[in-house]
Amino acid sequence: MSETAVDYHPMWTSLGLNLENHDALLSILGRLYGDTFMTQKNRPEGMSYFDFVMSEVHGLRVKELMDAKAAGKKVVGTYCTFVPEELVLATGGIMVGLCAGADFATDEAEKLLPRNTCALIKSTFGFKLGGVCPYIEASDLIVGENTCDGKKKAYETLAGLVNEFYAMDMPQTKSPQGRALLKAEYLTFKEKMELLSGTVITVESLRKATAVVNNKRRAVQRLARLRAADPAPVSGLDALLINQVFFYDDPERFTGSVNAICDELEKSISDGTGVTPTGTPRILISGCPMAAPNWKVPATVEGLNAVIVGEESCIGERGSRGLTNTEAITVDGLIDHLVDRYMEIDCAIFTPNGDRLDHIKEMVNEYRADGVLLYGLNFCTPYLMEGLGIEKQLEASGIPALRIETDYSQEDTGQLTTRIEAFIERISG
Ligand code: SF4
Ligand code: SF4
Repeated sequence: MSETAVDYHPMWTSLGLNLENHDALLSILGRLYGDTFMTQKNRPEGMSYFDFVMSEVHGLRVKELMDAKAAGKKVVGTYCTFVPEELVLATGGIMVGLCAGADFATDEAEKLLPRNTCALIKSTFGFKLGGVCPYIEASDLIVGENTCDGKKKAYETLAGLVNEFYAMDMPQTKSPQGRALLKAEYLTFKEKMELLSGTVITVESLRKATAVVNNKRRAVQRLARLRAADPAPVSGLDALLINQVFFYDDPERFTGSVNAICDELEKSISDGTGVTPTGTPRILISGCPMAAPNWKVPATVEGLNAVIVGEESCIGERGSRGLTNTEAITVDGLIDHLVDRYMEIDCAIFTPNGDRLDHIKEMVNEYRADGVLLYGLNFCTPYLMEGLGIEKQLEASGIPALRIETDYSQEDTGQLTTRIEAFIERISG
């Protein structure tokens, strides 16, 4: 996001980006990153790796993808934690997350989408139509999933805007029928990946890919557990950033970097040091995913001297919890294990989705949160509807909860600050 010594403009031109728009976006994001992250106090040294990744997120990482493509590997862009990275890695491919977290080219997006569409979907279209996302352009295949109605219908339009689009159907219930549907979809996706890559998935390649993804998840689970300490060893903003980088970086390098920062955090916990004073109000965020560079709410919370200790979110623990069993002697058996693991994701598109409330309560206990901030994007029916019931049930269990609806604009920052400040006062009392 910041200016770098290497000139990547020729690469961005070859990808068909709109250079004027792209330069404007990078300059805005560079400033936002500096103001949001680099002004924090007592940051762990290990965050310098993630600062570097973000400074090169449209540069070096994209070059790596282009080099991999030149060597015959395929790049697959996705929008949902239900798309199994294991099946992409098993064919030698690379998976990247495409969810976008900033308003861009909204006027253009609103020519193709109703105005009352959530910011995440609008932003996805804005990044494509504005020609500012090198990951979309570098993708050989873009996978959409039939989750919420907004995404499902928007993908019908997106399919006509990208090189190759693939739709994956998704269950809506945690039933035997739902599980059978997901298994059928994963088997079809396996065939698609084999066709795209010209590589047949074997027991060995799938087991190895599953182990790589398990290790990545283990590392972020370790990071999550360390955040139970008081004083908090890492800010919520930095932890969210790590969870966002999860979707872009090389998985093995990412795992090593997360484990390195965890070693450092373990030492600061044993020394009794942290990023905030002991007794700082602790908040769990739960709800819609926060794709980079959507840092507005965490920055507001932590700017008010509270600390975020966990994210019940797909960019966070909902997406990364659980591991996949690698013990099977057939590819089909390994895919069964994948289905078992992915069926545990408590997305609000499932009905009923009672396990999500249990998971939120578990996280409150484990990370010693004083309250839950239920985060919903405007017009996101699944999370906004579910949030109402969850708020009531948390309060009934003695867990303070605050429900907010917002978008990617800065227009409501004042109002959000007032409400969050009052909530922090309440949980501090
Ligand atoms: S919230 Fe649901 S639709 Fe969105 S990424 Fe998570 S699982 Fe997928
Ligand atoms: S935020 Fe809500 S409406 Fe938007 S894509 Fe996700 S589930 Fe769908």
